[in-house]
Amino acid sequence: MSFVSDIFGSAVFHDGVMKERLPKEIYRSLRETRDSGKPLDPSVATVVASVMKDWAVEKGATHFTHWFQPMTGITAEKHNSFITPAPDGRVIMEFSGKELVVGESDASSFPSGGLRATFEARGYTAWDPTSSAFVKDTTLYIPTAFCSYSGEALDKKTPLLRSMEAVNRQAVRLLRLLGNTASKRVDVTVGPEQEYFLIDRSLWEKRRDLMYAGRTLFGSKPPKGQEMDDHYYGAIKQRVNDFMKEVDEQLWRLGVFAKTKHNEVAPAQHELAPIFETANIATDHNQVTMETLKKVAEKHGLACLLHEKPFKGINGSGKHNNWSLCTDDGLNLLEPGDSPQENEQFLLFLCAVIRAVDEHADLLRLSVATAGNDHRLGAHEAPPAIVSIFLGDQLSEILKSFSLGEVARGGEATFMETGVKSLPRLHRDATDRNRTSPLAFTGNKFEFRMAGSSLSVSEPNVVLSTAVADVLSRFAERLESVSDVRREVRRIIGDTARSNGRVIFDGNSYGDDWKAEAERRGLPDITDTVEAAPRFITPENISFFLRHKVYTEAEIRSRYEVYLESYGKTINIEGETMVEMARREIAPACVRFKREVCEAKLAVKACGADCHLEDALIERLGALTAALDENIRDLAEALTELPDGASFERAAYYRDKVLPAMEELRGTADGLEEIVASDVWPFPTYGDLLYRI
Ligand code: ADP
Ligand code: MG
Repeated sequence: MSFVSDIFGSAVFHDGVMKERLPKEIYRSLRETRDSGKPLDPSVATVVASVMKDWAVEKGATHFTHWFQPMTGITAEKHNSFITPAPDGRVIMEFSGKELVVGESDASSFPSGGLRATFEARGYTAWDPTSSAFVKDTTLYIPTAFCSYSGEALDKKTPLLRSMEAVNRQAVRLLRLLGNTASKRVDVTVGPEQEYFLIDRSLWEKRRDLMYAGRTLFGSKPPKGQEMDDHYYGAIKQRVNDFMKEVDEQLWRLGVFAKTKHNEVAPAQHELAPIFETANIATDHNQVTMETLKKVAEKHGLACLLHEKPFKGINGSGKHNNWSLCTDDGLNLLEPGDSPQENEQFLLFLCAVIRAVDEHADLLRLSVATAGNDHRLGAHEAPPAIVSIFLGDQLSEILKSFSLGEVARGGEATFMETGVKSLPRLHRDATDRNRTSPLAFTGNKFEFRMAGSSLSVSEPNVVLSTAVADVLSRFAERLESVSDVRREVRRIIGDTARSNGRVIFDGNSYGDDWKAEAERRGLPDITDTVEAAPRFITPENISFFLRHKVYTEAEIRSRYEVYLESYGKTINIEGETMVEMARREIAPACVRFKREVCEAKLAVKACGADCHLEDALIERLGALTAALDENIRDLAEALTELPDGASFERAAYYRDKVLPAMEELRGTADGLEEIVASDVWPFPTYGDLLYRI
């Protein structure tokens, strides 16, 4: 056994442990719940709880927690110890079936978007047996869903599970119509690639903006940015390597398939990619990954930044969400095979995604909308805010032939000529890479690149999966109403290519001409969260979610509120942080420096020497510090004059009044940073943050 296979999953109560430790009948019953969603028998829970507790205690656990994913985007936990008083004054370790299955907590301190009135503050957590429990530090973590007293989802897991069920229903229905009788389930598979920045922790501690807001709110451009392309895939520095090694080990113990690590495009930026899993588990594991990155960084004297845009002018971080559909008997429904032009089942599922994305581009955009990600989308480094699909030449050609009713030709397998005999012959992939597309078909999966690095991947997958389920159900209806299924399949493919082909774009999505072209095609360009949020509550989108039982109307309205509320709160914190930094750090530093220059000027003048430099500096400092004073006051005022009214008006106010005031203040402060002596400047600069590891 290798070290890795020894430790992999050693902290997880996984299938192997259950099979070994649970009585046969109990194991079988639990397996049925995990595999096919059969409701759990309470007597099974009692036995599982007791076995799980014994296992966890052997692993050093003293506590357990229901672990859930409220609408904050991060996870929540409340630890309870296993201790129960024994009659002899000692304690025994106990854990009941009820404690495993349900938990109760005060939901009033989590975002609910008005779903939960304070008089019914109770929230409930319910065990998700499809995601394995694990031990971290000295606590047994039990993945759970989180809902209100009235049963409405207050979390990110419940809708995800519902959307996976919706796709499963419709995909199996379609497979049956296509003659597949073997597959019993269709799962959504997800592989989220995680980007992040690593900076020195002692420098991080000196920046209130990083501590409070997770991103720099001030900072002028360093002389060296990412123009040399020397960081991407560069040799990994020792300190970073030590960090990554420990991250991998911890993740492996927790059963996360951490696979690939490399340096990213921006200085100090890195990426970690796992092997894909079913969407629910991939989402849980991505949360564990983000927490582990932060924790291990701290241990190594580093700070891990998960914000989507920590540095102005430097690439932001995303989370590429690789998405596909896989049957329980191992069939990837988006695998084109050797001759995609004849693979009608593949083309049908491909078309389902194309139509789904075209019809629900607005919801997909909304699913990744946060104040942080708004800085990244459309910023000529990340996908634009316009949702489009990259298919590559071969598939685009095939769909075109279908739309014209022609016989599609398959591309020939081709090889690349390296001109060196000793190198292996390289097979040319059917699709090249396109790094600019928001949603690229990459061989046998779709890669959705609009998600921000700090985001839970739940939401984009809820939208993508529900949208695909919706289209699949309409395809199934058409096939159910005809006798010649194959002919109808070809018609559907042709129809989709004609009516939804506008969403396919293989060119450079970063270019400005694409914006104009997209507008001509009628594709929405939703630039920010405030504009995106109302798309959630349009009558069509409400009935779309209701149709597939993914959200109730109350849940949709509450989530709409949460989007807008958290947008406003984020900007409020950023604005307050800027005012504080400008007043208490930047302004005093400028005063000190000004005095230094003025004193110097007097001394120079006394010698009869030339004061040109001092005069110029004093003038420049004078102008900029006057502007600084004004900008601080403007921002502080903007932050106190919030309008009453609906959450939409408040969010729009933050976008239209507060953000521009922040920009103004930043411009002035960054100008000052460029002329104030570096030993006087109150916090580490971009150069320090990006190049000190
Ligand atoms: P890149 O995008 O850099 O080419 P890879 O090809 O290694 O990277 O894959 C990126 C991610 O896609 C990985 O997390 C991988 O597990 C995931 N992935 C691969 N196949 C699937 C699939 N069928 N469903 C979902 N994710 C997948
Ligand atoms: Mg990728």
